[in-house]
Amino acid sequence: MLIFNCPHCGVAAEETELSGGGEAHLKRFGPGCSDADFEGYLFTRENPKGVHFERWRHAFGCGKWFIAARDTVTLEVFGTYPAQTSEPPREIFDRISEKRPGWSWCNLSGEA
Ligand SMILES: [Zn+2]
Repeated sequence: MLIFNCPHCGVAAEETELSGGGEAHLKRFGPGCSDADFEGYLFTRENPKGVHFERWRHAFGCGKWFIAARDTVTLEVFGTYPAQTSEPPREIFDRISEKRPGWSWCNLSGEA
């Protein structure tokens, strides 16, 4: 069972208290973008076997959105932070790199 510490209210929330919101840190494309960029924004997801950043809502708690960094294979949680954060915090990068040497974060555009 997944347990995330909500960064807003501090509760250790089981996954039954949460609602998943899909992959985090997607680059949004607005009016005037190409069809390929918009299609990628709508449909292309990383779906990694390993470290993943996901949006979650503490639906049966404070109701706020946050982002969780976890391993999709082992279910190990590296940390959570508010959804208004544009990039993962440095301490979460460091925690992941410590446990997964050689790991690097890439968004969908391929930029590190
Ligand atoms: Zn909460």
